[in-house]
Amino acid sequence: MSKRPWGYQPLPERPDPTWPLHSQTHAVRAGLARSGFGETSEALYLNSGFTYASAEQAAQSFGDEIDHFVYGRFANPTIAMFEERLAAIEGAEFCVGTGSGMSAIFASIACMVKSGDHIVAAAAMFSSCYVILTEILPKWGVTVEMVDGSNAEQWAAALSKPTKVVFIESPSNPMLEIVDIRMVSDLAHKVGATVIVDNVMASPILQKPLALGADVVMYSATKHIDGQGRVLAGAILGSNSYLQEHLSQFVRHTGPSLSPFNAWVLLKSLETMSMRVEQMSNSAQKVAEFLESRSEIKTVLYPGLKSHPGYEVAQKQMTAGGTTMGLEFAGGQAAAFKFMNALRVIDISNNLGDSKSLITHPASSTHRRIPPEVRAEMGITDGILRLSVGLEHSSDLLKDLEQAF
Ligand SMILES: *Cc1c(COP(=O)(O)O)cnc(C)c1O
Repeated sequence: MSKRPWGYQPLPERPDPTWPLHSQTHAVRAGLARSGFGETSEALYLNSGFTYASAEQAAQSFGDEIDHFVYGRFANPTIAMFEERLAAIEGAEFCVGTGSGMSAIFASIACMVKSGDHIVAAAAMFSSCYVILTEILPKWGVTVEMVDGSNAEQWAAALSKPTKVVFIESPSNPMLEIVDIRMVSDLAHKVGATVIVDNVMASPILQKPLALGADVVMYSATKHIDGQGRVLAGAILGSNSYLQEHLSQFVRHTGPSLSPFNAWVLLKSLETMSMRVEQMSNSAQKVAEFLESRSEIKTVLYPGLKSHPGYEVAQKQMTAGGTTMGLEFAGGQAAAFKFMNALRVIDISNNLGDSKSLITHPASSTHRRIPPEVRAEMGITDGILRLSVGLEHSSDLLKDLEQAF
């Protein structure tokens, strides 16, 4: 065989910086593991398996005696780069990438509970989370108590009993309810519970639940992390002890694995995430203030508005109001549908955190799996719309909203 012309050779070692790096530098550099080809951008290792130099090396790899990739369900170089980068941004000891946000939520809770265990959750949650907590886990003997996430007395009463897991979504989708993560974490830890936060709506840019006392954070990376409507993915982040005692075994053997291709897309998304989320959040603040001035809208639910019941707590735990808001139309579903149909730039779509501005009617789409009486309790009336503000120029969005009225 002729000599390979490509110049594959081990890369010279570069000294690591001796100073602490900013989060945005991690977003571009963390986890980068270049191959001997010296490629600039992260390589896509689109392979399920790995080979070994000898039978002995294979045996040692399976025995965890040496570091060697074994199988795509456990680990893959491109996925590992994504996990390391997101962990560095979040300030977490580990990250496990998953195939969707829902597989991240399910694995993060299911790896911890057994029959007879008790979960306490803030009632305002995404509808698939509601199905996991009220239908799937109870079938296996796990009990679940829902509390009003903004009510400190309800948390204190619920967390006076032995509890295994506390599950919080803050801000919540689509009502943007705020839970005081530090207050709930302090109560939960007194009864030995593990606090899991669905941080999808805030993104790692606007809120750091681990720094507020939570134990585990999970994401639908489909939302702000990709943020460009391309891939479905999720992530779980937390401490090494949670990984080793609970999560690692569960995900290795149940297989909610992320695709290497999707991880590669997400690696590039992480590089621009802070710019996207900050820009979108700035525009969302302007849009929320404009909508609050309109008589057609009964309430604008946005954590960056002083009128929001969770404003004070949001100021403490988030760096901005976020990209997404709820709007309640005085004229109910008919008025909400008429408004959606009149928009010319903003799309009707059920995603959020996207570079394109998107509007949804939760009661008939994303949250229709929640029974109507429970939806009413959550405040998700038929007049509620969820608006996710994208990267278009904010003046064009304001113009679109104004003409739709
Ligand atoms: C979308 C979403 C999820 C589910 O994520 P998928 O990637 O669609 O599985 C979970 N929680 C919240 C708050 C979400 O918005």
